[in-house]
Amino acid sequence: MKKIDTLLKQTEFSDEDIVRLLQITDPQEATLLQKAAFNRTTEHLGNQVYYRGLIEFSNICTLDCRYCGIRKSNHLVPRYELTKEQVVEAACWAAENHYGSICLQSGERRDSKFIDFVTDVLETIHQKTVSDALPSGLGITLSLGEQTLEVYKQWAQAAGNPIGLRYLLRFETSNLKLFNHLHYSKSHHDKGLERRYQALKDLREAGYQVGSGVMIGIPGQTLEDLCQDIRTFQKLDLDMIGMGPYITSPGADMLGEGMMEKKALMRLALNMIAVTRLVIHDINIAAATALQALEDDGREKGILHGCNVIMPNITPRIVRKNYQLYANKPFIEQEPSDSNKFLQHCIEKTGRTVGLNVLGSSIHWKKRAGQMQ
Ligand code: SAM
Repeated sequence: MKKIDTLLKQTEFSDEDIVRLLQITDPQEATLLQKAAFNRTTEHLGNQVYYRGLIEFSNICTLDCRYCGIRKSNHLVPRYELTKEQVVEAACWAAENHYGSICLQSGERRDSKFIDFVTDVLETIHQKTVSDALPSGLGITLSLGEQTLEVYKQWAQAAGNPIGLRYLLRFETSNLKLFNHLHYSKSHHDKGLERRYQALKDLREAGYQVGSGVMIGIPGQTLEDLCQDIRTFQKLDLDMIGMGPYITSPGADMLGEGMMEKKALMRLALNMIAVTRLVIHDINIAAATALQALEDDGREKGILHGCNVIMPNITPRIVRKNYQLYANKPFIEQEPSDSNKFLQHCIEKTGRTVGLNVLGSSIHWKKRAGQMQ
């Protein structure tokens, strides 16, 4: 077996190398992996971490993903929708607090009322956030599930900021059998893996910087599966990745299948982030909130292992407790400004700085789109 320090000097990795790195548990090896990923990030992307203020504007969902706390069949969770004014107010708060970008997330709906609501919100956010500090307005990431190509195009136009336009749609796992197990509901499969991949292609055609990702530590998932997930990130030529640990939710259908022990899960999630960074250098990787549900300084650890994006939750506090995708979701109680200050402190402790009033688009996308100066 190759020695870890030899392995970490490589710039190309075989599947065998990737699995070897993913399975690290020895603390000394883990430190070497962490340092290599952090340095690789600095070398390719510099020292800044970018904010995407997360606005979870509705937990109404038409799908039944078996792992998710806001799935349609969980009748225990009160459903909510923020008004247009509440969403726009949160977005303006982000702009005033020097965030370069926001992320709008919700449960999955494809009805015209929902589509028109998002269109209207996007147009207003753009109008209200163009300023000297943000000449093209706030950058927008949408995380609103699978839609048609026409809808992606309609939203892209409404967002009004083609250089700060992004969509995050995780494929959750590249193992087809596992994917179907996660999305099987009594009468049908809500989601199809091939359809998910097609949606990612449609998003590129519609002009978005395309992000995807997986859950790490799903019951039945192997290290080989995670290695194939990284290969799939490469094949899809993604611009950004958001991935985090799988955590059971009391309202989900998979509670009985359990989850990995927390410490081992954290280790695996950090290994996956670090190895992804070593294999794909110039993409943006977000430190998922789920890392913080496992350990208080989870997202800080994400940054130390190669993440360069963080998504402070700026959803109004009154509805936040109802967007519980999994147990122990952090920042349920804090006002946005508290979590903002706290996060800045966390980021600076890692040695990084916060990129204020910048879009922070991925270098990978900038190269493809001819946006490098
Ligand atoms: N409906 C949109 C979609 O499917 O892309 C956006 C919302 S969905 C709730 C956002 C992400 O939450 C999913 O892609 C999934 O990976 C993550 N998620 C849901 N339940 C989770 C759980 N129990 N543990 C970790 N992540 C979870």
